[in-house]
Amino acid sequence: MKGIKKVREIFKSPSIQEFNPKEMDPSLNHQNDSEIEELIRQECLSVYHPVGTCKMGNELDCVVDQNLKVKGIESLRVADASIFPNIISGNTNATCNAVGAKCAELILKK
Ligand SMILES: Cc1cc2nc3c(=O)[nH]c(=O)nc-3n(C[C@H](O)[C@H](O)[C@H](O)COP(=O)(O)OP(=O)(O)OC[C@H]3O[C@@H](n4cnc5c(N)ncnc54)[C@H](O)[C@@H]3O)c2cc1C
Repeated sequence: MKGIKKVREIFKSPSIQEFNPKEMDPSLNHQNDSEIEELIRQECLSVYHPVGTCKMGNELDCVVDQNLKVKGIESLRVADASIFPNIISGNTNATCNAVGAKCAELILKK
């Protein structure tokens, strides 16, 4: 809700108004908090970027260590989005590539 309101505020600024923008979606039908909330509940989705099911770290619920090795199992590493401890704020694909490159480096170093 804060995001939608912030975008509307930005679009009211003179530098944007100069281009005479028209709001399409949400729209003028979604003005008060309950209308905006209803829209968010209808339209928002996660875009399917699941991460963290084999998270890396030192806590008990972590599956891999800092070398991407699965704890308690010999010769098994995980190198994908599942090792992210938390969802990142940016896109996940480049980060998965970085994890893969790091894993290759670790295997070659061994
Ligand atoms: C619709 C959509 C749009 C996206 N858009 C973007 C975007 O614009 N930018 C961005 O950065 N990220 C985007 N992502 C996210 C990004 O694609 C993923 O975060 C990334 O691909 C995850 O990589 P991964 O290696 O963890 O898993 P995956 O890429 O899912 O790789 C898993 C692989 O394991 C294979 N596999 C599964 N089970 C088995 C099995 N039992 N045996 C053998 N192989 C198996 C699968 O076939 C697959 O090849 C998008 C994702 C989706 C679904």
